Amino acid sequence: MVENPEKISPDKLEAFRKMLLPAGQRIVVVSHTNPDGDAIGAALACRRLLTGMGHEVCAVVPNYFPSFLAWMPDIEQLQIAKGDSDGKIVAAIQAADIIICVDFNQIERLEQLGEAIAANTHARRVLIDHHPGSPVGYDLAFSSPASSSTSYLIFKIIEAIAGSDAVDAAMAELLYVGMMTDTGNFSFGNLTPELFRAVAVLLEKGIDIPAINAQVYNDFSEGRMRLLGYALSQKMEVMKSYGAAFICLKENELRRFNFQIGDSEGFVNYPLSIREIKMSAMFLQTRHFIRVSLRSRGEVDVNLFARRYFAGGGHRNASGGKSFTTMEETADRFRAAVAEFMKSEP
Ligand code: 5GP
Ligand code: MN
Repeated sequence: MVENPEKISPDKLEAFRKMLLPAGQRIVVVSHTNPDGDAIGAALACRRLLTGMGHEVCAVVPNYFPSFLAWMPDIEQLQIAKGDSDGKIVAAIQAADIIICVDFNQIERLEQLGEAIAANTHARRVLIDHHPGSPVGYDLAFSSPASSSTSYLIFKIIEAIAGSDAVDAAMAELLYVGMMTDTGNFSFGNLTPELFRAVAVLLEKGIDIPAINAQVYNDFSEGRMRLLGYALSQKMEVMKSYGAAFICLKENELRRFNFQIGDSEGFVNYPLSIREIKMSAMFLQTRHFIRVSLRSRGEVDVNLFARRYFAGGGHRNASGGKSFTTMEETADRFRAAVAEFMKSEP
C-alpha cells in the first residue's frame, strides 16, 4: 500500500520498531546507482540511526558519488560496491539479517550489486522509497510517491519510531541534503507544511543552511562552469513546436573540460527555464552506454517516457534511463520519441 509520508500506517511503524528492537543485528542499507544527495543522505542517516541503536550496519551504493557530496557527514562510512576487491561488501550482504533498500524500488537500479542482494534469501527486507510503482518482495514497504524525498520519509519514520530526539546534528545535515536536492532546493512539487516543519526541526539541530547550499551548489570547478556554458550555447537543441529541448555530451567534449563525475549534474534542468519548454533531456556518454536524464514540468510524464523509450524510469517530472547506441542514433530516437509522445500524451 502507498503511504502518505504524513500518515504512515501505525502498524507498519510498529512492525519496523519491533524488527529493530533486538540490538546487535547485522543490517545492510543499500541505495541506487549514481547515488544523489537523497540516496546518500537517506542511506547514511539510516546507518547512523541504526548504529546508535546498537546494530552492525553497512551502508552501500553500487558506484561512486559526485564530488560535490564528498563533504557530507559520515561519507567515509559509505561503502562503494564497485571497489569491493576483497569481497567485504558482498560478505556483509550475505551475512545480513535485515536489508533496507532506500530511494529506489527496482532491483535493476543496483546493477551488479543486485545479484548479491538477491542471493541473500534469509534477510528480512525493508523498503523506504518515494518512487512510483508497486514494489514486491519486501517484508515491510514504506512506499510513498507523495513524499518529496526519501530523506523526508525517513525523517517521518524516525520521528514516529524513535522521536525527533534521535536525530543528531549529523543526521540532520544528511536528511536536509536529501530534502534539499530532491526538491530542487524546495522548488518542485509535494512541498507540504509538514515538510517545512521537519526542516524547522533540523534547523533546531543546528544545520547551517547557507553553508550546505554553498557546498552543494556553489563549489564547482572552473571546467564544470565552462562545460555548462558550452552545453547551453553550443549543444542544446530546441524542438520548440513540441516544447522539448535536449543536450548531448560526448566523451571527447567532456574531456576537453576536464570532466569529473557529477559535473553535469543539474544541467538537464536548465532548458526547462525556457518559457515554452515542458520536457528536457540530457544524454551523457559514458564508457559503456549513454546515460539519459529527463526532466519535465506539470503533467508531462517523463517517468512514462523513460520507461517507454529508454529502458528507465523515475518520477513524473524527473527520470532517467540508458541508451546503448551511438549519440547520433540516440538523438534521432529522442526526436522521434518526442514527436510520438507529445502527440499521444497531451
Ligand atoms: P538523474 O537524471 O538525476 O540521474 O535521475 C533522475 C531520476 O530518474 C532519479 O529519481 C532516478 O531515480 C531516476 N532514474 C535515473 N536513471 C534511471 C534508470 O536507469 N532506471 C530507472 N528506473 N530510474 C532511473
Ligand atoms: Mn530520491
